[in-house]
Amino acid sequence: MKIRPIIGLEIHVQLKTKSKMFCGCSAQYFGAEPNTHMCPVCLALPGALPRANKKALENAIKVGIALHCRINNFSKFDRKNYMYPDLFKGYQITQYEIPICEEGYVDLKRGDGSALRVGIIRAHQEEDTAKSIHEDGYTLVDGNKAGVPLLEIVSAPDMTSVEDATLFAEYVYTTLRFIGVSDCDMEKGQMRFDVNVNVEIEQDEKDGRTEKIATPIVEIKNLNSFRSMQRALAYEISRQQEEYEKTGIAFGKGNKTTRGWSDDKGHTYLLRSKEEAEDYRYFPDPDLPPVVFSDEEIEQLKNEIGKLPHEIQQEYISLGLNADTALYMTSARSLFAYFEIGRKIYNKEKNLANWMKGDLAFAISQRGLDVKDIQKILPVDQLVGLLQQIDSGVISHTAGKEVLADMLDTHESAESIISKKGLAQVGDSDEMKVIVEKVIGMNESAVINYKAGKSGALMFLVGQVMKEMKGKGNPAVITSLIESILQ
Ligand SMILES: [Zn+2]
Repeated sequence: MKIRPIIGLEIHVQLKTKSKMFCGCSAQYFGAEPNTHMCPVCLALPGALPRANKKALENAIKVGIALHCRINNFSKFDRKNYMYPDLFKGYQITQYEIPICEEGYVDLKRGDGSALRVGIIRAHQEEDTAKSIHEDGYTLVDGNKAGVPLLEIVSAPDMTSVEDATLFAEYVYTTLRFIGVSDCDMEKGQMRFDVNVNVEIEQDEKDGRTEKIATPIVEIKNLNSFRSMQRALAYEISRQQEEYEKTGIAFGKGNKTTRGWSDDKGHTYLLRSKEEAEDYRYFPDPDLPPVVFSDEEIEQLKNEIGKLPHEIQQEYISLGLNADTALYMTSARSLFAYFEIGRKIYNKEKNLANWMKGDLAFAISQRGLDVKDIQKILPVDQLVGLLQQIDSGVISHTAGKEVLADMLDTHESAESIISKKGLAQVGDSDEMKVIVEKVIGMNESAVINYKAGKSGALMFLVGQVMKEMKGKGNPAVITSLIESILQ
């Protein structure tokens, strides 16, 4: 029996704007008093007229460009009618007939090196719904989120494993954050996934033929983290196989169902048999003019995006960075900018990158700061100043970490901290020679062991010298000094 999952993703992303999609209410609703970011337009009160947010549409176009979509010069808004407590208007404004972006793709590489191209069917502009809060048998509704710009990205069913879906979702996440159209903060609901999944089952019959069936398609709604998407998919893939073995029901017209995901219980559950498109009675929104963007305007937006994360990652890997570090450098625009300035004034790119991703990132998170502000926290020329002190042997790598922490706290330069704390290493000096000779004199048995070729003896002697020098000696210099004396 051969099993092949077929997976398509719908990704909902809140686009970063000051105001909501169709009115002037602030879109920064997180943490605000419930129902304070609302107006007659959000509620579709009689006489209130929506106006489309140009910034949101520009962001939508940027997403389309980044996902290699065709950008439609002309698109329009439609009403999707349905009754639900989180939808005050009784309809949602969306783009049904002509979306702003269509027919794109992204190219990905799986862990085993094989290529995966995921098609983008469309990306359309719409508005978010209100937030429902279920409490003690009641449902409370907070309208602050209603009308926040939302982009729905619909992929083709080109993914065949949980790994594929993860790769694609992470690609979209990284790219959208990088081009600055959304923070994609999943804890705040800024990025959510719906997945469509079913399973192709191929089995050999007794008469030698192979039979191939597909299970009914299931849509799992509202997955709000990578982890729940992965768990829900894995669960559903095996559930569908078991279900088919029990019931023998295969894919057929109209037997698509919608399921929810319980993160606590770790299973999906039936929500409803899927409404067909006509249930929504879509029609053009009579209050909104069509969305028109000229080729020149689209070209301008393309220029604003510049290089995309995957292009930058390739470039960095060719500089010698490993894939993880290259990915880290594009995980925030601030890190990319920081590294780009840094490599202009310091040519050991790999070393700079490793400090950024390692000790500096650690120190920043330890202080509860955000890498978004990395240049303010520690200007890159100051970090480079520290690395140069280490490179030239003035201080050890270990002392460098201590200096870095001090630099973050005091905003002083590496040089001044090194001299204040007396951290400079003692080089190949007479002082060091005296100490080495003293240590050799005091450790006769280690010297005998060294001469007998026992490994570890030299390390021991170096350690003793370091101890005498209170850590200020350069281990490489000490090693060669001991070797030359004992020759
Ligand atoms: Zn409003």
